[in-house]
Amino acid sequence: MNIALIAHDKKKELIIDFCKEYKKKFLKHNLFATGTTGAMIKENVGLEVTCLKSGPMGGDQEIGGMIANGKIDMVIFMRDPLTSMPHEPDISALLRLCDVYNIPLATNLETAKLFVSNL
Ligand code: PGA
Repeated sequence: MNIALIAHDKKKELIIDFCKEYKKKFLKHNLFATGTTGAMIKENVGLEVTCLKSGPMGGDQEIGGMIANGKIDMVIFMRDPLTSMPHEPDISALLRLCDVYNIPLATNLETAKLFVSNL
């Protein structure tokens, strides 16, 4: 499966811990991530990740484009709903595309655990 990983700044530690916990599962899949999230996962977890642009520079839109082209099978997006993001329209567009194309989307830790433990 091709899995997209994204985490807002206050959730970066959370996604790293999550990737460490489920590293064995993730090793069997292709990972894509927004720039900063991906770099941190590579460095701290040692997983192979294809890094796209950082979120504010268009990474969310890149992942959206991949979803529209059938290249992403699951999205794990650890969102921080309490901090306003300058690229909020891109984030909303990405979430919308998941619904258009019926792509499973986890936006918090417990949902992500349910998804990944079932891989
Ligand atoms: P980042 O982007 O991984 O490059 O920080 C995430 C986002 O803000 O959407």
